[in-house]
Amino acid sequence: MKDIPKVAERFIRYAKIPTQSSEQSKKIPSTEKQFKLAHLLVKELIEIGLKDAQVDDKCVVYATIPSNLPKDLGSKVPVIGFNSHIDTSPSESDENINPQVIEYQGEDIILPKDNTVIIKQKENPQLSDYIGTRIITTDGTTLLGADDKAGVAEIITAADELIKFGSKKLHGKIKLMFSPDEEIGRGYKAVDLKKFGADFAYTVDGGEMGGLDIANFNAAEGSIEIKGYNVHPGTAYGLMKNSLRAIPEIIKLFPKEMAPETTKDLEPYYHPFMIKGNVGNVSLHFILRNFDASGLDEQIKFLDNGVKEVQSKFPDLKISINTKKSYKNMKEILDKYPYIVDIARKAIQKTGLKLIEKPIRGGTDGTRYSFMGLPTPNIFTGGFNFHSKKEFIPIIAMEKAVETILNVIYIATKRFLEEDVKN
Ligand SMILES: [Zn+2]
Repeated sequence: MKDIPKVAERFIRYAKIPTQSSEQSKKIPSTEKQFKLAHLLVKELIEIGLKDAQVDDKCVVYATIPSNLPKDLGSKVPVIGFNSHIDTSPSESDENINPQVIEYQGEDIILPKDNTVIIKQKENPQLSDYIGTRIITTDGTTLLGADDKAGVAEIITAADELIKFGSKKLHGKIKLMFSPDEEIGRGYKAVDLKKFGADFAYTVDGGEMGGLDIANFNAAEGSIEIKGYNVHPGTAYGLMKNSLRAIPEIIKLFPKEMAPETTKDLEPYYHPFMIKGNVGNVSLHFILRNFDASGLDEQIKFLDNGVKEVQSKFPDLKISINTKKSYKNMKEILDKYPYIVDIARKAIQKTGLKLIEKPIRGGTDGTRYSFMGLPTPNIFTGGFNFHSKKEFIPIIAMEKAVETILNVIYIATKRFLEEDVKN
């Protein structure tokens, strides 16, 4: 595949390396295999000229593009960071990922190794924007991992181009960081934001071309524990307290019309997702999502009250609920730094794309960084159907993401050199 652009070539190379993270593991990184890609990235970053590229024992890759500004101007331009994650979702296999490059002609895409897996035009109306262009898909047996190896390939390709321009295009110091375990919500624990050293940053971990994420759900997670008493059924008379009996009532606490599968856009949801247990003890795990912080508090209270009611119906059982907040809406932070969002908006528009700003029904590493003191909106990668065998990414969208990253750098540099944008 000689004729595909560098960014796609890079992406396919990274996609083939398995890097699935694991919720079961307590380690950082959660899986050793993520190191293989991290080491490859360090090698490639050094090859393109980023001499300080390194990976630490937590599998985080750091690298610097030095500023090429004259000394007296250097301090006027803040350090901009770019970050993406190297792990892929545990939701689908990462074994033998075999990306396919196809010329898209407007048909449904039947994947070669499992013809029951079909990327349908009807389910993916955006496909029509890419007729006559090339698209990368899976072979139908794995996910693709464009989430977020597309982001990795796009950032490194932009860095490569920036260095090749040399002093022809002025820019401040740029920091790159590639981190593990985002998909299991722990990547932010691995990173050292001081070492990253950016004044503000952008994750490149979004979806459709033109997308900019500056708001996300407030999130909470928790579990409801039901304690009973188990004894041999033959001698259970008057003794056994079956914790499973309360489950139907507990499930009813989660409104069907406020579920992930029945809500969209700004609508909040309750999502019970796992039950474990037996007669003696059963636990139900759930997550709550709400764009409004006080709305999330109400959801938590609603479940607390519901559990109390169920408890009163089952005095023999002991029912408890434990909920904790996991992340907040980054808009709260980004609203304080409108120029950071404005630079990204202008960069996407300068690339010639339609800006798509939709609050995301999830969180990113950038959400966490924003609350850790590093404001970090999220830029598109160009990919679709993340975490699925039907994942795909148009090559043109990857090229546009590279261009957008470069435009962020140029626009920010120009802006900080010309004016005091913080006012
Ligand atoms: Zn991602």
